[in-house]
Amino acid sequence: MAEKTWGGEPFWGLGYEWDPDWVLTDRQRELRDTLIELCEREMRANAKVSDDELKFPRRNLELLGEHGFLALTVPTEYGGLGEDHVAYAMTCETIARYGCASTAMCYVMHIGAVNTLMLRPTEALIDKYIRPLNSGKIGTLSYSDPETGSHFWYPISSGAERRNGGYNVRKKASWTTSGGFADFYVVQTTSPDFTGYDDLSVFVIDGEHVKAQPSSWDALGLRGNQSGPIEVAGVDIPGEQIVGPEGDGAASNDESVDPWFLIGSSSVWNGLAMGAIDIAKRQTTRKRHVDVGLRVADYPTIQDYIGEAVMDTNAARLFVYSVAQAMDNATQHNTVQPPPGEFARANFLHWAWQIKFNAAKNTAHVVDKMLHASGGSGYKRDMELERYLRDAKAGWVMGPTNEVLRQFVGKAVLLGFESLDYWNQHYNRRAVENELKKLDAEGKRKLAEELLAEVEKASAPAAS
Ligand SMILES: Cc1cc2nc3c(=O)[nH]c(=O)nc-3n(C[C@H](O)[C@H](O)[C@H](O)COP(=O)(O)OP(=O)(O)OC[C@H]3O[C@@H](n4cnc5c(N)ncnc54)[C@H](O)[C@@H]3O)c2cc1C
Repeated sequence: MAEKTWGGEPFWGLGYEWDPDWVLTDRQRELRDTLIELCEREMRANAKVSDDELKFPRRNLELLGEHGFLALTVPTEYGGLGEDHVAYAMTCETIARYGCASTAMCYVMHIGAVNTLMLRPTEALIDKYIRPLNSGKIGTLSYSDPETGSHFWYPISSGAERRNGGYNVRKKASWTTSGGFADFYVVQTTSPDFTGYDDLSVFVIDGEHVKAQPSSWDALGLRGNQSGPIEVAGVDIPGEQIVGPEGDGAASNDESVDPWFLIGSSSVWNGLAMGAIDIAKRQTTRKRHVDVGLRVADYPTIQDYIGEAVMDTNAARLFVYSVAQAMDNATQHNTVQPPPGEFARANFLHWAWQIKFNAAKNTAHVVDKMLHASGGSGYKRDMELERYLRDAKAGWVMGPTNEVLRQFVGKAVLLGFESLDYWNQHYNRRAVENELKKLDAEGKRKLAEELLAEVEKASAPAAS
């Protein structure tokens, strides 16, 4: 097995024998070597600057573009590397582990936006957004809505109307990674002729039409990713900037946005966990207690911490790679996209929820334990561990949050998928009957009168 190197020297963290290399092709291993080299040369140093100064990691993203990674999953005929879901998981994990987690998260959102376009490609979208990717063009996904918080699939502060052969688009987003820095924004709004919150459409908006306040971003971790609010304030766009047919939003979420986001972000959390273990290995094998003549790494307690962290993290990594492989199998390694009305990746969405829950839960625990193993030295900024700890804590709270995910899975297991009711459309008769039992006759009469008045109002002809 080849030795992992760092600036020409043996790597100071865990070697390749602790990486599940059998899931990668030779080409993917070469791509990983390139990424590790870029991290060692420049990206890791830039991570500190982004963290200290809340600076968008522009240079790191340019470096990724120079080496083809901004078009990793784009077919070679459009200038991409033609890679698949496993390669994407490896790339996100590697950038977060050895380089910069803020860059990795901007990259996840970028590839999410690129693949949402590539699910419904047109010549116009490819020429304008896909072919120029490696010149450093950055995209992002803007879904979360100020009115619905982590229910990012429910865009209330948005809308689109047909106008002059194109569309007029309104969108308010409470969080958008690379907000104010991206060149293009893939946004989800309610559809023209909106019929209900499952009737959503997807548009791509150029950076010049997006209002952002990057200076308002300040957070515990991922401080370079600039995930502030943005607004598209009723902007006219050409008809060719709709992505897929009108009303395709829910299908596009299930087939593209969620699968790519969940694989990529889970890989970032796994990369951060491995990166924290790397740092703890370096610290505990170097630090000596002169009184007992032992290194910190010689204490069984510390060995237990590291052993458990490696086993749990490798379980989370292999879970992600396995789901990525399932999506590769369903799409012939990302070379075949299902047409509207058909699904491939979406059939594994309930598996993708599980990988995100696991990876985010694991990384939050592992970074704490690596801090404990490293002692007070780990608490100081110069060892970098505290940045990994802060960055990793974003995993649990990023939508779909771990509270939402465990409920999705538990509810779907117990009550069936239809019980999930993303858009709050299904009447819960059991809950209503239970509440009604608590009312006396007068209370029921009052409620009945209120309901009847609502029905009258709703069925009255609109005033001309
Ligand atoms: C670093 C970072 C980057 C981000 N980047 C992007 C981006 O690029 N694009 C984007 O669209 N969004 C992005 N987001 C937003 C993210 O996806 C969530 O929408 C956001 O974190 C939700 O925050 P909130 O304060 O609105 O949470 P709230 O929705 O107010 O949640 C508060 C609490 O309630 C819980 N909760 C919510 N709903 C339920 C429920 N149904 N059942 C049980 N518990 C529930 C939550 O889990 C949480 O514990 C980003 C977030 C972060 C932290």
